[in-house]
Amino acid sequence: LFARGTRFVHAAQTVEGLLDATGIEIALAGRSNVGKSTLINALTGQVALARVAQAPGRTRQLNFFQVGEGRLSIVDMPGYGYAEAPKAVKRDWQGLMFRYLRGRPNLRRVLLLMDARIEDKPADHAVMGILDKAAVAFQIVLTKSDKMKPEALARKLDTIKAIARKHPAALNDVIVTSSETGAGIAELRATIAALVA
Ligand code: GDP
Repeated sequence: LFARGTRFVHAAQTVEGLLDATGIEIALAGRSNVGKSTLINALTGQVALARVAQAPGRTRQLNFFQVGEGRLSIVDMPGYGYAEAPKAVKRDWQGLMFRYLRGRPNLRRVLLLMDARIEDKPADHAVMGILDKAAVAFQIVLTKSDKMKPEALARKLDTIKAIARKHPAALNDVIVTSSETGAGIAELRATIAALVA
């Protein structure tokens, strides 16, 4: 699926700016700095792919990447959780996210990225609440697992699985990844490929 290359297709700042979905969509969400761009690059095997769409001032938008011949789009959602973001910006972000999530029949799953080293934050729980409300299945993906010792990582995984169990839209499976070592990347690709097949 990913062997055919991935290209940046378009960006939407508003729900009105969305193009109709052609193939299946998988969206990636997470706090800013969680490692989302790096993971998209690792997943697609294309260095600096996500950075193209990440120019300053262009972060509050949904970026669409087409994988292969178009059976799959990867949707890069704007990073959330900026402590310093003005309330109006946060509200706009949540509005765009919710309206996108609600109106997208081809959206198969949201991958919710969480930094393995960082405690879950209210913003993460707010997003999980939005996903529950929108009834969009989501799967938690831990990033930067290379920064954790195995025992601490195992404890973290238990904590995250317990959180997932509280959310009706959450899948029980949590994928542990590192863009640094490549851990979990093949599993993530296989998971996505299974959704497209
Ligand atoms: P984004 O804001 O979510 O797109 O985050 P980035 O992809 O820009 O990554 C934020 C920072 O985390 C950068 O300094 C990355 O090099 C680093 N990073 C991303 N993924 C990993 C990882 O798997 N392991 C380690 N050690 N660092 C990572």
